[in-house]
Amino acid sequence: MKIAFFNTKSYDRQSFNAANKAHQHEIVFFDSHLSNETISLAAGFPAVCIFINDYLDATMLEALTQGGTKLLALRSAGFNHVDLTAAAKLGMKIVRVPAYSPYAVAEHAIALILSLNRKVHRAYNRVREGNFSIEGLLGFDLHSATVGVIGTGKIGAIFAQIMKGFGSKLIGYDSYQNPTCLDLGMEYVSMPEILSQSDIISLHCPLTPETYHLINDDAIAQMKTGLMLINTSRGGLIDTQAAIAGLKSGSIGYLGIDVYEQEADLFFEDLSNQVIHDDTFQRLLTFPNVIVTGHQAFFTSQALSNIADTTLANITEFENNGSCKNEVKIENAIAHK
Ligand code: NAD
Repeated sequence: MKIAFFNTKSYDRQSFNAANKAHQHEIVFFDSHLSNETISLAAGFPAVCIFINDYLDATMLEALTQGGTKLLALRSAGFNHVDLTAAAKLGMKIVRVPAYSPYAVAEHAIALILSLNRKVHRAYNRVREGNFSIEGLLGFDLHSATVGVIGTGKIGAIFAQIMKGFGSKLIGYDSYQNPTCLDLGMEYVSMPEILSQSDIISLHCPLTPETYHLINDDAIAQMKTGLMLINTSRGGLIDTQAAIAGLKSGSIGYLGIDVYEQEADLFFEDLSNQVIHDDTFQRLLTFPNVIVTGHQAFFTSQALSNIADTTLANITEFENNGSCKNEVKIENAIAHK
């Protein structure tokens, strides 16, 4: 099938070219995002492939349909960037990659915890400058620390498994009790309990209208003073202004985020020669106890190869059968309302 790939980087082209040897689709890679300005490039392509920061509203979906596009292949698990209701009305099929490497994201959450706790980001700079003082680098044992996991699905369960290895005490919050987590000895508790008991909280639930700003002023007020908050899920789970207030007051002792609510204007691009206009983001970077990474938790070679294999298999399945097991249906959108 002829596929237009938008928003591609060198690593995408490499993994998709390798995976396409088994499929032989006709792929055209574009560097640009899929936007109102670039949508004409998609004309004549029955399939279009996009990433998480390509936002498709009803008008753009209609333009794609008019250009002959019948299939939208998301090279992501999340689908909150596409208007599913509009797509269903237009008869546009959408497929996604439900899971590609839960290990990648869970392991990155651990990287943030270890770096923040043992101040690796600060020690790295000190040693390079010949400063071997360890004043201010005091950490705490993860052994026996209480670790709260909000969202105990695929990634949350692997995160819990790793933390169990450190000897941490596991508590969880989710409407569904995952048997893997129960086997690890996780105790499921209420939201107020997870906030007040945890030394570390790691967010692994999806962004939905229900979870938008789950961590707000009210939640931060209930947290154990000096807690470590980790978010590798979606930026909108945290009210950034509330987090900044929490950091200033000391309620939040450490913040590690791989996602940020206004990340679409920043992440995945080299802006090192430009002035960053987002003052909220810049304020976050001034705290010594904050680490921000630019949505790289998924970024392992295994995950890239799984994303490419599943995306192309989805397209092949759709081409052969007119349907696909990884189709995103309108019920998914309603379930998330
Ligand atoms: P999953 O569907 O396996 O698990 C999500 C869990 O969250 C489920 O158990 C669900 O019951 C629970 N949940 C839903 N609403 C909740 C709520 N209000 N409170 C508590 N729990 C709730 O998903 P997953 O594969 O583990 O992925 C989790 C999230 O990780 C994704 O939604 C995505 O946002 C994020 N993610 C981030 C990256 C990255 O690179 N940073 C990559 C992949 C996924």
